[in-house]
Amino acid sequence: MNNILTDRHNRKHTYLRISLTERCNLRCTYCMPEGGVALSPKSHIMSFDEIYTIAKTFADNGVTKIRLTGGEPLIRKDITVLLKKLASLPVELAITTNAVSVDRFIDTFKAYGIQNINVSLDSLDADKFKQITRRNYFDKVYYNILLLVKNGFNVKLNAVLIKGFNDNEIIDFINLTKKLAINIRFIEFMPFDGNKWDMKKMVSYNEIMNVVNTSFSEDKVNRIQDAPNDTSKNYKIEGYRGSFAIISSVTNPFCDSCNRLRLTANGQIKNCLFSAKESDLLTPLREGKAIEPIIQNAIKTKLKIRGGMDTIEKLQKPELHTKNRNMTTIGG
Ligand code: SAM
Ligand code: SF4
Repeated sequence: MNNILTDRHNRKHTYLRISLTERCNLRCTYCMPEGGVALSPKSHIMSFDEIYTIAKTFADNGVTKIRLTGGEPLIRKDITVLLKKLASLPVELAITTNAVSVDRFIDTFKAYGIQNINVSLDSLDADKFKQITRRNYFDKVYYNILLLVKNGFNVKLNAVLIKGFNDNEIIDFINLTKKLAINIRFIEFMPFDGNKWDMKKMVSYNEIMNVVNTSFSEDKVNRIQDAPNDTSKNYKIEGYRGSFAIISSVTNPFCDSCNRLRLTANGQIKNCLFSAKESDLLTPLREGKAIEPIIQNAIKTKLKIRGGMDTIEKLQKPELHTKNRNMTTIGG
């Protein structure tokens, strides 16, 4: 089969992340400006039928996993209707959420086979949580994380580390995995339009491992098997129930094995998180045109490393990374 999802570097794209909305009920400083972002007009946002049609086209061409994200996916009105439609596709369905309203969706997730839930949590301290998210939901989010674990979901916590702010919590986060069978993922802070990125604020893979190695003896820190196409390097402390991982998109990108594509809430394909280039699928879909050729072309033009920012020097150039929209409108 001439697979339209294989690029020039022989990477097969089997994983689609769909952003359901540009809106969010939090305002994480590294992701969103305080006043929110300029939103697309409602008529430019994909309807559930359009999301389903595009998702099915990808599934028909070899996508095996779809993750719903945003903005905050769970604030999309009547999301249950969409989940039901997507659950009929032969794909693994997953979700990334800030967990503020997860308690209302436990039965829905179970009903539609959504087992893998990634939750953002950048601090275990309620005051710091409020500082970073600019909202006062720590207790609710923490309760909801425990609720997910209690209900048997496969939970990963995403923590973006920022120097001098939450990097003193690395060991506290890892200690959570002593009793809880969850995976904590430390994410290197990445540059996007308007997020005031500064390399000096980023906590690197090496710095995180130095902290780990000063707190735990070498024989207690076990490197464990990463899943295929995993973006993270995984570890487990001997005897702990859960594990931790580092996503080092800045200092050590994982582009060679990339199998991901992104679909923004306004129906644009992004072939790389770091690429400012987008290909419009929604307009041709609404005009009744075939979208496969556009998908194929978007994949063909995918660059080898980080949307062309193949060195840290290039990544640091604001004129390169500020052309890319912020995470809440891309869909993280
Ligand atoms: N609202 C949901 C949430 O927070 O999990 C889903 C969308 S959010 C944009 C997806 C992920 O992107 C989150 O885990 C967040 O931490 C991450 N993210 C956002 N901006 C980032 C940045 N500048 N650097 C690294 N990760 C970022
Ligand atoms: Fe919202 Fe998620 Fe961005 Fe935080 S990281 S502002 S929760 S979209």
